[in-house]
Amino acid sequence: MSFSMMKPLPSPGEIQEKYPLSPRARKAKETRDEAIRKVITGESNQFLVIIGPCSADNEDAVCDYVSRLVKVQEKVAEKLILIPRIYTNKPRTTGEGYKGIVHQPDPEKKPDLAQGLIAMRHMHIRALEESGLSAADEMLYPDNWSYVSDFLSYVAIGARSVENQQHRLTVSGIDIPVGMKNPTSGDLSVMLNSVIAAQNGHTFIYRGKETHSTGNPLAHTVLRGATNKHGNAIPNYHYEDLELLLDKYEQTGLKNPAAIVDTNHSNSNKKYEQQIRITREVLRSRHYDPRIYALVKGLMIESYLEPGAQKIGCGQHIYGKSITDPCLGWEESERLIYEIAELC
Ligand code: PEP
Ligand code: MN
Repeated sequence: MSFSMMKPLPSPGEIQEKYPLSPRARKAKETRDEAIRKVITGESNQFLVIIGPCSADNEDAVCDYVSRLVKVQEKVAEKLILIPRIYTNKPRTTGEGYKGIVHQPDPEKKPDLAQGLIAMRHMHIRALEESGLSAADEMLYPDNWSYVSDFLSYVAIGARSVENQQHRLTVSGIDIPVGMKNPTSGDLSVMLNSVIAAQNGHTFIYRGKETHSTGNPLAHTVLRGATNKHGNAIPNYHYEDLELLLDKYEQTGLKNPAAIVDTNHSNSNKKYEQQIRITREVLRSRHYDPRIYALVKGLMIESYLEPGAQKIGCGQHIYGKSITDPCLGWEESERLIYEIAELC
């Protein structure tokens, strides 16, 4: 056999018992879940800003980032709900490279999943306990959902996973908002079909059990740009793209039509500083057409303490600088959040 079964991992129940959430943090998450749910259903006019590093590789830097974010959140509380991106699993285009803290609790060392699951949970819980801001993460491995289900307030399904049956069926059993991204090809029907699948109930195998889900009416779309056959980026945040998505939503009869615009990835072509311009354009488009205003419920922005990105493998790391996609630095991120609060 070419698999080597190395060691058993703690179950979600075991790990939750060992690293529990305080009643205060649980309450903070519940309150935020309700506020975020109301944005997706249209009962609230608040605007979501899902913001933070591409990958959460270092607990201290992530908690430092979130502690700065919470001070800004207090000032923009009327208009915005800030959701820290604490992304602990990274999809890799070729499978090479850092796969996130769950695989590599130390990005310079070999994978250690038993330690990685603990590092992931420890970081998420510390960030929530210290700030009261429940976070977003990508669900790259559906089987791992129960390791994080008690503390997350937002889940994303990435561009490389959105066509996958197990992801769609697992989302149908999740009770918080889940953003389904457009695939790297940009085909909007793949993304919308994923939302249809997620909004309906299913019977399927989940963690070795026959499982029934009731459907997730909070599943919605995320526009992240695409890549053409030559490998060039094709943005999909422009006014015409939002109009097209609106028309497609009208044809499907989905519950809670909602879109988040991811300002980095193939929308910025990873020119991270363009996220500022893209944010302004999306907010302008919202004001031009009330239907777009109602559809676009938030933005996803890649941001960390330091601007840009650094390579790993050399042992020397700059604190708070991305080791995956390049991010906006803290100062420009803070300014941008205040601008969003004014313009949205
Ligand atoms: C990300 O959010 O960092 C990411 C990998 O996104 P996508 O799935 O859109 O490439
Ligand atoms: Mn990224």
